[in-house]
Amino acid sequence: MPSYTAPVKDMQFVLHDVLKVTEQSVPGYDELEADFTSAILEEAGKISSEVLQPLNVVGDTEGCVLENGVVRTPTGFKAAFDQMKEGGWTALDCDPEYGGQGMPYLLGVAVGEQFTAANMAFNMYQGLTHGAYSAIHAHGTDEQKATYLPNMVSCDWTGTMNLTEPHCGTDLGLMRTKAAPQGDGSYKITGQKIFISAGEHDMSDNIIHLVLAKIEGGPEGIKGVSLFIVPKFMVNEDGSLGARNGATVGSIEEKMGIHGNSTCVMNYDDATGYLLGTEHKGMRAMFTMMNEARIGVGLQGYAQAEVAYQNAVVYANDRLQGRDVTGDKNPDGPADPLIVHPDIRRNLMDQKSFVEGARAFTYWGANMIDQHVRADDDAAHGIVSLITPVIKGFLTDKGFEYATAAQQVYGGHGYIEEWGMSQFARDARITQIYEGANGVQALDLVGRKLAQDGGKHVMAFFEMVKSFIKENGGSEDYDKAFLDPLKAASKDLQAAGMYFMQNGMKNPNHALAGSYDFMHMFGHVCLGLMWAKMGKAAMDALEGGASDTNFYETKIATGKYYMARQLPATAMHLSRIESGADTVMALDAANF
Ligand SMILES: Cc1cc2nc3c(=O)[nH]c(=O)nc-3n(C[C@H](O)[C@H](O)[C@H](O)COP(=O)(O)OP(=O)(O)OC[C@H]3O[C@@H](n4cnc5c(N)ncnc54)[C@H](O)[C@@H]3O)c2cc1C
Repeated sequence: MPSYTAPVKDMQFVLHDVLKVTEQSVPGYDELEADFTSAILEEAGKISSEVLQPLNVVGDTEGCVLENGVVRTPTGFKAAFDQMKEGGWTALDCDPEYGGQGMPYLLGVAVGEQFTAANMAFNMYQGLTHGAYSAIHAHGTDEQKATYLPNMVSCDWTGTMNLTEPHCGTDLGLMRTKAAPQGDGSYKITGQKIFISAGEHDMSDNIIHLVLAKIEGGPEGIKGVSLFIVPKFMVNEDGSLGARNGATVGSIEEKMGIHGNSTCVMNYDDATGYLLGTEHKGMRAMFTMMNEARIGVGLQGYAQAEVAYQNAVVYANDRLQGRDVTGDKNPDGPADPLIVHPDIRRNLMDQKSFVEGARAFTYWGANMIDQHVRADDDAAHGIVSLITPVIKGFLTDKGFEYATAAQQVYGGHGYIEEWGMSQFARDARITQIYEGANGVQALDLVGRKLAQDGGKHVMAFFEMVKSFIKENGGSEDYDKAFLDPLKAASKDLQAAGMYFMQNGMKNPNHALAGSYDFMHMFGHVCLGLMWAKMGKAAMDALEGGASDTNFYETKIATGKYYMARQLPATAMHLSRIESGADTVMALDAANF
């Protein structure tokens, strides 16, 4: 059976040594003293390893079952969900006006990483509810907020997002679900949505579906899409639950992973819905949920890699195979442990340096969301908007890659279900697909985000890297190990941006054929920047006389590995991008 231990010390390092949260003038951050965050993270860690992780395999093997229109979640899920609710974990970063605890989003993300690493399928029930909560919070009327939010903060009612239809996934303009105005402010929603996560289940009293649909007579395509609140049970004026609405589950999907989360076909038959936000501006409202979900999915990617890595390390230390080529390390045993072999170490270092960099990157993004939401920092918002597809696309591609790399450490035993490594890989795989498949994230980055607001945000990003390098240079070892590689990678990224500017106008294929490479380059530069920050923070801590020298020296060594072995990937990506679209587009469709 695999295990999970929350890496609280690593999390604390990012929050306090790197981001220095309490020194920031963001309202609410003054509460994030190291003792306080450590207490929260330790407590969440206990639930993660003692309650959620043991249920991970149960969820995988039992899956969800649809019986008489009701979806039964795996054994133990409901009790664990109740425990999360009672502990207030679902309300951590929600608005106190609706029963939340008002903690910064950053803290919610750190706790969410633990729950997700321990049991991704389980945590999706709460994660989707949080996304729906945020959309209603941002776009709802006062009455809608009062009606739905308190119950969603407590997770007595859970939430869903309904975009996908059988013939329309990425291209939502093709949507067919209709909304007919009833003259009393409500609408009748009719249509079918597929692949709806947590669409039906037995863990909450009500389910609040956020459904995209087209109001009859509205504009064609994506411009005619509106967003509706469609409750499973109607809500009476006094807040009690009333009649069953016409929102029902048709079937649930058999799938590769996340078996503990129900993936539903949802049928809306004249279901009563209420407009959320403005008519025909549904995508704007849904994007509040989708942007949050994209960061949550990026987190899912690296969280699966983290738990897989933790188990791979244990195995690499236990499993005896072969001898260290430089001399026996376990002379009394029949063989040395796997961890002596350079190739096993390469694999583990790839995983470790990715996961820790990804954590810093995600917390850095969450920190900027707080800066925007709590301190009205528009520049931070611009950077978050730019890097959201990178968090989603890069961290999930790499998260899956490293979940399978951890499986590789087990050899054949990694492929056998008994060890649990296959589940991490299977669960991680969906992260590359949902919330906008990764190819579409790359398209968003290159096609939209780079040029957004006249390219202001990408320029601000480059400026940020440049000034970090300028402000922190001067020590030979640090410059050589951290700043020089970061400088080179950032130069590659700028050269790719320049290539798109010079060639993308003439032929958009030149930009789009390189978009995936660009997303990965961008991800590497972001992780390079994070490692430069972490390396500096660790060196400062050592210079300041920190007692745990092993912890900080390990950080520096891991950072040096990333800079030396991972960051140079930007050169390969640049070379591919600069080869343009000709080789990509050379074949006729018939010749594939
Ligand atoms: C387990 C699971 C849970 C899900 N949960 C939800 C949910 O809760 N709510 C919800 O609404 N949906 C959900 N989805 C749906 C998911 O978001 C979609 O499957 C995904 O967005 C892709 O849509 P599609 O499957 O129709 O693929 P398509 O849109 O047909 O795309 C197929 C492939 O083509 C690529 N592609 C498409 N258009 C372009 C383009 N213009 N340029 C380049 N490449 C392109 C895509 O990247 C993809 O690789 C879920 C799916 C699964 C499997």
